[in-house]
Amino acid sequence: MSGDSHPRYDAVIVGAGFAGLYMLHRLRQAGFQAVVFEAGSGVGGTWYWNRYPGARCDVESMEYSYSFSDDLQQEWEWTERYAGQPEILRYANHVADRFDLERDIVFDTRVVKAHFDEAGAKWDIETDTGRTVAAKFCVLATGCLSSANLPDFEGLTSFRGETYHTGRWPHEGVDFEGKRVGIIGTGSSAIQAIPVIAAEARHLTVFQRTPNYSIPARNAPIDPDLVADIKGEYPAFRARNYKEPAGFGSKIPKNDQSALQDAEANRERNYWQRWERGGFGFLSAYNDLIVNRDANDTAADFVRRRIRETVDDPATAELLCPDNVIGCKRPCLDTGYFETYNRPNVDLVDVRTNPIDRITPAGIVVAGQEYAVDCIVFATGFDAMTGTMLRIDIRGRGGLSLTDKWSAGPVTYLGLTTSGFPNLFMISGPGSPSVLTNMITSIEQHVAWIADCMGHLRSHGFAAIEATPGAEDDWVAHVNAVADQTLYPTCNSWYLGKNIPGKPQVFMPLIGFPPYVEKCDAVVANGYEGFELRSAGA
Ligand code: FAD
Ligand code: NAP
Repeated sequence: MSGDSHPRYDAVIVGAGFAGLYMLHRLRQAGFQAVVFEAGSGVGGTWYWNRYPGARCDVESMEYSYSFSDDLQQEWEWTERYAGQPEILRYANHVADRFDLERDIVFDTRVVKAHFDEAGAKWDIETDTGRTVAAKFCVLATGCLSSANLPDFEGLTSFRGETYHTGRWPHEGVDFEGKRVGIIGTGSSAIQAIPVIAAEARHLTVFQRTPNYSIPARNAPIDPDLVADIKGEYPAFRARNYKEPAGFGSKIPKNDQSALQDAEANRERNYWQRWERGGFGFLSAYNDLIVNRDANDTAADFVRRRIRETVDDPATAELLCPDNVIGCKRPCLDTGYFETYNRPNVDLVDVRTNPIDRITPAGIVVAGQEYAVDCIVFATGFDAMTGTMLRIDIRGRGGLSLTDKWSAGPVTYLGLTTSGFPNLFMISGPGSPSVLTNMITSIEQHVAWIADCMGHLRSHGFAAIEATPGAEDDWVAHVNAVADQTLYPTCNSWYLGKNIPGKPQVFMPLIGFPPYVEKCDAVVANGYEGFELRSAGA
């Protein structure tokens, strides 16, 4: 505490998901005094909010976990190949207990303002509960997928039944038995929820705008031999994953060959093997699937054939077949998704040709026809990567607002900082690999970088660090140039902001984890290249 009227911390951390939890732990270890504000009533972030039926990780359990403590990774026992939401939330709570984190977390408290006070070289933070605190550093651990997107459907408030968003699911669960349910969306959340809701509800109508590719997850109880193998060499396993393009998957067989150079029969066998193995390894079948449209077509065509083979009704199968690039939207993993359309209680409605007209008290109207439902599930995604940060009134030097600075799209240096906003850090911000990786791996890398940076400022007597405009312009150009070498920008994805009307359309994440880590390390080795480090009063 300072002599100010407000409590004064070294750092305020916004958010208590995996990013905020580890940031707090790291800062405490380094002797900093930090406080976390969390809008929810508990830790876990994504896994606290997304409690929809079927919610599950699609990075394998032995990889989607912290690596920073060997004791932690040795003692925690996962039960399935991919952990379900309840298990991941238990894990987050275990971590919070084990490292005694909750005593510095203020729950049910949303940060609404963060203003930089130039004279005092501090951030003044205000919450929706009326608390005001000051801190030298502000760390946004607010999550890439934490602001639910609820499209502005005409008549929404007139609906007489219950409505739910997958990202804000009621803690007590929802009983769909005997109900007619409508679900809007066919992204990862919907693809996980649809089979589970269909098995429970009287009737399920799926409103699909863009069909999605999905690969079977092949979830199963975790293989004890695999656990023993990995635990026998966990640090080495993590180190190998660190060298992978997405920070995970070192056990997935790679193939440094073009899909177009392989004989058709071999290609078919390769795709089949990966389809049977399940998971993201399908997209590692060849080295050019995400850079060459013809190569990509071979994988896309394989999946379309599986859809047509699985779904009995040919018209429904055709509607479910995507025509875009496989992998340029976030790939989905499923358990019995396409099979669900063979159930007599499930219908698919195309809302690409005719968008949803309106919502009435009794249902959803498309092309003049009303689909009567008792409840509606919005699986309509998130205002991703920037949405949550921009909901906070963030102002840097000279009162510059982050919303104004990013009016044409996010501008960052390394996805960690933005010029004009000294001592403000983002974890997995736009311009970093974040959502294209195992996010816990990215989070750990960012947290370590930020904690080390704060330590450097302290030990060298600097009051502030700020990216230079030149460094961040070059960085944004680099992020775009890397994306432009791939097929990623060709789809209407949330990576590009295309799911939110009016949002600037720029490809937000950086492709490629290992070169990014090298760059972050080089920046430090070169004396925080691209940053200005200021002494007090300078
Ligand atoms: P979050 O977990 O989103 O936590 C951010 C926290 O900040 C939230 O609790 C939020 O309430 C809080 N917050 C935000 N704004 C404020 C504010 N103004 N004031 C106070 N608190 C605030 N990633 C993978 O790598 N693999 C997966 O398989 C995977 N599956 C996913 C499944 C779903 C359904 C979703 C939505 C995401 C998934 N992700 C996955 C991405 C996931 O978000 C990350 O893996 C990780 O959980 C992010 O942690 P985080 O702490 O950065 O953010
Ligand atoms: P999403 O991928 O953005 O999907 C949203 C869906 O809603 C899309 O099908 C979209 O159609 C549809 N939609 C949005 N607005 C609509 C409108 N006005 N009318 C009709 N349809 C509309 O969101 P999500 O499924 O929640 O997934 C978001 C991300 O969270 C994922 O990509 C992934 O990163 C993460 N996630 C991961 C997992 C996992 O790993 N297990 C599970 C869930 C989520 P269009 O495609 O046409 O826009």
